[in-house]
Amino acid sequence: MTSSNSITGWILAGGRGTRMGRVDKGLQPFQGSTLVSHVLARLAPQVSTIAINANRNLPQYQALAAGITVVPDQLQGYEGPLAGLQTGLRHCATDLLLTAPCDSPFLPADLAARLHAALLEHDADVAVAVTLEVDDAADGGASPAPRRQLHPVFSLLKASLLPQLDTYLATGARRMEGWFNTLRVAEVLFDDASAFRNINTLEELQRHERDVAVTPALATDIAAAAGSDADPLPVDQARQLMLDRIAPVDATEQVTLHGALDRVLAADIISPINVPAYDNSAMDGYALRGADLPVDGMSAPVTLAVIGVAYAGRAYTGCVGAGQCVRIMTGAAMPVGCDSVLPQELATAIGIDTVTIAHGAIRAGANRRFAGEDLAQGGVALAAGTVLRPAHLGLVASLGIGQVTVRRRLRVAFFSTGDELRSLGQPLDDGCVYDSNRYTLFGMLTRLGCEVLDLGIVRDDPHALEAALRTACRDADAIVTSGGVSEGAADYTRDIMALLGDVAFWKLAMRPGRPLAFGQVRAGDSAGDARAWLFGLPGNPVAVMVSFYLFARPALLRMMGAASPSIMLRARAAQPMRKRPGRTEYQRGIVSTGADGAPQVRLTGAQGSGILSSMTDANCIVVLAHGQGHVAAGDMVDILPFDGLI
Ligand code: AMP
Ligand code: MG
Repeated sequence: MTSSNSITGWILAGGRGTRMGRVDKGLQPFQGSTLVSHVLARLAPQVSTIAINANRNLPQYQALAAGITVVPDQLQGYEGPLAGLQTGLRHCATDLLLTAPCDSPFLPADLAARLHAALLEHDADVAVAVTLEVDDAADGGASPAPRRQLHPVFSLLKASLLPQLDTYLATGARRMEGWFNTLRVAEVLFDDASAFRNINTLEELQRHERDVAVTPALATDIAAAAGSDADPLPVDQARQLMLDRIAPVDATEQVTLHGALDRVLAADIISPINVPAYDNSAMDGYALRGADLPVDGMSAPVTLAVIGVAYAGRAYTGCVGAGQCVRIMTGAAMPVGCDSVLPQELATAIGIDTVTIAHGAIRAGANRRFAGEDLAQGGVALAAGTVLRPAHLGLVASLGIGQVTVRRRLRVAFFSTGDELRSLGQPLDDGCVYDSNRYTLFGMLTRLGCEVLDLGIVRDDPHALEAALRTACRDADAIVTSGGVSEGAADYTRDIMALLGDVAFWKLAMRPGRPLAFGQVRAGDSAGDARAWLFGLPGNPVAVMVSFYLFARPALLRMMGAASPSIMLRARAAQPMRKRPGRTEYQRGIVSTGADGAPQVRLTGAQGSGILSSMTDANCIVVLAHGQGHVAAGDMVDILPFDGLI
């Protein structure tokens, strides 16, 4: 960003703090420091120099940063933000002044850059941030479009405006909007309305104080990677952006082994014992001393005296001497003195109390299992993050452990959006389709081990969408929606998602499933700090499934604390496949065993993103890489088998 060279950041901290009981707002404690220091930290990287406008407690503001300028209003008597602005313009040594209030700790990371770009583009006097808000007061059930909300205290102004402002204030007028009306204003729409939240009351302050952390505004943070028509975002990059931001849920619970199937282990399991606990036999046969075996160069067999029997669970307690052996069963403890087992089928001859062994039948040490060779006492038997499958349950049981600590189940809410959708049981009106996505999502989420919350079909109506998102946010860790995220979509989904949270809208270099929304939404005031990750998947039924597997699934697994990479295999293309370079394509395939015994894959036919039968006919997805062009029959391609995935 080159714009910061010419911009002075100006923090407005000169208010009376009336709604906070006249405390000095900027200096209120907030998440380990003060409100104003959060603003300072977010603004500083965006500007060349920064100063504060305050009307009291000047030394405390001065102490925030070495050499920082703190200037009180020229107009006496707490005359409002315009008075602060006047002071700012007067002290501004650069061409431009960027204002931000001291109680906006979430301000966007690209505030200066975007306002500056708009100022230049429109040759304006001032560039002002705007967000979309939904009016809570619905009138008679009508659904008003989101309203544009101007944020005049977040504006970038030319320093040369000072004489005009002096003149305006001299008339006794004090409203920012009033003065802006006399100027050329460029409005800049920001997606993330919550970034402009200010904290007005002590109660709000306390509520925000409970937030986990002031997360960097995600949407703006990754805006540079949004992708465009000309330059869509590569799949791997988008997935990484997502994974980098998601952390596992903290809560854990104790479950019995029966209840642990498919759950995610929350802590390493350390083996309390050696498994096996003692040296034992791997075969039914004869336990003997390796030193008694026929030695190299000696062609004559050796005959040993059988002096006892060792059973699994009933050891032979005597001592085995030279020339002796013990009949032994699989799993029985090795008798003292023995180090090898001759499988009974390798004995040359078996007498009443003897056994004869030919030269070379076994080597010394053969068929003996060592204590701890499976799991050593004190070692990590299973690592945290393991998804417990049947083998894991068995292994935990082999340690004598009957309960394990697992992460709590993830709660995932999901709904479909679209006026054209009908639920099962409803008549299918003209131009309508049955909602199938909710069923695929139900299946995929359930398979993943999530607790699911089906919120039904949500109409393309801002109030309904907002209500659904808020409910989902209160009740779930994550929200998966389908439909309404493409740019051309004639609905409000994108606007409402942006309004309720910190959401990025991506154009991905993939097919199917180009548009995707990802971010964090907040339930809003009444629900405290409830938040949920949002995965806004496209509407087309195949696109939903593909983007679920590629984006939502790995992200949800990360939230579950699970280490569960999907396995890509290679198969020979049994037919040519058309493919355009510059995007990753996920074609539906049927993998089978070719005549030579090696895997081969063919496509399921029409590959349209609405053709769900292309998924039901398939048993794998053929992944054609970003840079790849057409595939010839016989070429090797990557496949993602459905088994274990779906
Ligand atoms: P959209 O992304 O909302 O523009 O939807 C893209 C296409 O997917 C449209 O043809 C929709 O009718 C279809 N679609 C959206 N949601 C669903 C759903 N839940 N079930 C079946 N089709 C859907
Ligand atoms: Mg739609």
